[in-house]
Amino acid sequence: MPSNTCAIGVDLGGQSVKLAVVDDSGAVLLRRQAAVDASRLEPEIRGLIMHEIAAIRAEAASARLAPDHVGLVMPGYLDRERTRVLFAANLPTLNDTDFLSSIHASLDLPVSFDADSNAAAFAEYRFGAGRGVDRLIVAAIGTGIGAGVIIDGQVLRIWNHIAGSLGHVIIDARGPKCACGATGCVEALASGPALERRATEAADRNPKSKLAAMIKLSCGTGFQPGGAEGLTPSAQQSTRITGVQIAQALHENDAAAAEAVRETGWWLGAAIAAWCVIFRPSKVIIGGGIAAIGEPLLVAARQALAQVGQPSATKDVEIAAAALGPDAGVIGAAALAERRGRVS
Ligand SMILES: [Zn+2]
Repeated sequence: MPSNTCAIGVDLGGQSVKLAVVDDSGAVLLRRQAAVDASRLEPEIRGLIMHEIAAIRAEAASARLAPDHVGLVMPGYLDRERTRVLFAANLPTLNDTDFLSSIHASLDLPVSFDADSNAAAFAEYRFGAGRGVDRLIVAAIGTGIGAGVIIDGQVLRIWNHIAGSLGHVIIDARGPKCACGATGCVEALASGPALERRATEAADRNPKSKLAAMIKLSCGTGFQPGGAEGLTPSAQQSTRITGVQIAQALHENDAAAAEAVRETGWWLGAAIAAWCVIFRPSKVIIGGGIAAIGEPLLVAARQALAQVGQPSATKDVEIAAAALGPDAGVIGAAALAERRGRVS
């Protein structure tokens, strides 16, 4: 007989879908992953999701597990009832479709939907680096910046089920233009591409640095900027180096890499200072691709927070690394599904 309560978490992104069977202690019992072609139309993407859910259910049955809920999370905005996708930048064919309600109609298990940023935040709150923290921000920093906010143990839903666009809070109104159309957003200054741009510039200024050597070597070997393990999934003309290479150069005490990380961490700290006066968190957790940089980034962020933040709003705020890594989405999806299932 199945020995514990478990649910299926589905974390749908623009490039892949991850699925896991997760028990009520947040442990991943089974997992699957499939590539997603975001140019496919909604019925094909839905077909893939249904196929993958059926496959992991079959695996679960073989393992004598009986997941009783499905939680699907994705980037973007969901409507009030969480039955329609209003806008998902990375999955444009799903925009304004019945994708969610069609999945609901096709499944014989209760299914709930949410934003991936909420799932990651809830997972860290329940099982990760935010356990027991009642006012918590969990930011995922990669190509873009998404964040979920937990207040008194509840996911904060201000607009379209998210806590606002924390990546697009303006922190330098005379700064660089952001892809969203605004100027000086957190995302333009403290995202993975911002770090990569600074690293490339630092390498150009320091031709004898390890970073500069890496760039030369990469050019000679047909290096693809922002490859599978980089912070950016797609090549950008102005970027010639990946987050993984920056982390490696940093590990080898390269001054150019350290400079780029310090500057990016400083802007991250400035962003956290802005978030603090809005949400008054006691802890801010940083995850996503940029987490590969590790403690040096967080040290710089803490310094900036102390330097520029409102003392009363920031003095006791802890900045820490995420604990659950890429599993946060599926764990949170399953946990939110379980919670909704019990309530409704
Ligand atoms: Zn923006």
